[in-house]
Amino acid sequence: MPTYPKPTQEQLVVTRLGEARLVSPLPLSTTPGDNIGDFVDDDLRALYNPRIMLGEKPSDLCFELAGARREIFFTPQDTTAAIVTCGGLCPGLNNVIRSLVLELLMNYGIRNVLGIRYGYHGLNPNVGRPPFELTKELVDEIHHKGGTILGTSRGPQEHKESVDFLVDRGVNILFCVGGDGTQRGAHQIASEIARRKLPISVIGIPKTIDNDIKYCYRTFGFATAVSEAEKVIDRAHVEAKSVLNGVGLVKLMGRHAGFITAAATLASGEANFALIPEVPMQLHGEHGLLAALDRRLKAREHAVVVIAEGAGQHWLDECPDEFDASGNLLLRDVGPFLAHAIKDYSNKVGNPANVKYFDPSYHIRSVHADATDSLLCERLARAAAHAGMAGKTDMLVGLWHNQLIDVPLAVSCDAKKQLSPEGELWMALQALTRQEKWYSGV
Ligand code: ATP
Ligand code: MG
Repeated sequence: MPTYPKPTQEQLVVTRLGEARLVSPLPLSTTPGDNIGDFVDDDLRALYNPRIMLGEKPSDLCFELAGARREIFFTPQDTTAAIVTCGGLCPGLNNVIRSLVLELLMNYGIRNVLGIRYGYHGLNPNVGRPPFELTKELVDEIHHKGGTILGTSRGPQEHKESVDFLVDRGVNILFCVGGDGTQRGAHQIASEIARRKLPISVIGIPKTIDNDIKYCYRTFGFATAVSEAEKVIDRAHVEAKSVLNGVGLVKLMGRHAGFITAAATLASGEANFALIPEVPMQLHGEHGLLAALDRRLKAREHAVVVIAEGAGQHWLDECPDEFDASGNLLLRDVGPFLAHAIKDYSNKVGNPANVKYFDPSYHIRSVHADATDSLLCERLARAAAHAGMAGKTDMLVGLWHNQLIDVPLAVSCDAKKQLSPEGELWMALQALTRQEKWYSGV
């Protein structure tokens, strides 16, 4: 179950630029049994809660279903789209760009697609590089590469100037690929467009390796990150087992959410301790991590510890606050701190640990998407193209119980998704690492 409050039905209504009156050029139908693929009926909905207690009346709270509409808003041959990628790298960015370009140019037959350079900076001609045209040939092989061919950035951008830019360049649909910050920026651009009553659509595609965006069960890049992280945990285990009292310490991505740490630890099956931001842990004391690790070393002479970058921040409270260009609080680096703490404590209790520290973050972020993520990028990007062409705006494409949905930006980026300590993932993690055993000293 989600860790954030239930929305109201009003919050889930997606804004439209106007009535969609043009017949879609896509060769789909609504006739059952003709095997050529269906348009999605505008009245189709995805239920918010797929679970039901027997005897209870189901709630009809629901999302708008994503997908190609029979009637569209924009005239394809007069339409210009633009794509911008912002925030940190994540496997799959190039796949999203490629699928968007191919769907818009090849299937809808729109006039052109502009690639915005280096994030929202590229929407300000005074500071950014000019955009370039994205052609079918240019995007042909980019999905095999990590990173983003458009470049990315952090840092604020005046949304009024962004809208001036869109008007000057004749952009009708802007696709914003990025995390929570990017989607908040997209919402501001859409609000300025609405204030000026312009027919420009803004569509978000959620990008977060941490998997912390609301209404998106799994974001692209997450599966790739988990498989890469699993390999690192396995290697840390090999290192730890090869020396007396070896400790493999792995720091993984996850500023506010422990999804990568939990999933990679479960996939690897080799870690003994997994620490996530959602479940704060004591470092010192009989039931703290250091004493528990010492008990584990005495019993098995090696251990693997996995920590999400956002976990254990309270251990470093004396460090001053610092912020990145986008105004996000910079995390204190818990990895080296914990490595030192383990060494100090183990020396003090006369059972010295041999710590091997792994920080694979940039390695993981820059790899290209695996097959599972490539498929998700393809689905999200094409759904985004359909939403834009249908004249929907101020929304992002989400994934809810494996159904693609259209969600208003205002409700999707007001809070982050976190791992539920009451949920199945955390329970499985505890079962695997048997944390109680080491912590309680039983
Ligand atoms: P990541 O997953 O890497 O954190 P992100 O999209 O959250 O991705 P940010 O650097 O926070 O990355 O934001 C990306 C862009 O969105 C930046 O240009 C930033 O200035 C802009 N942005 C962030 N927050 C807001 C906001 N509240 N309003 C408008 N723009 C914002
Ligand atoms: Mg962010």
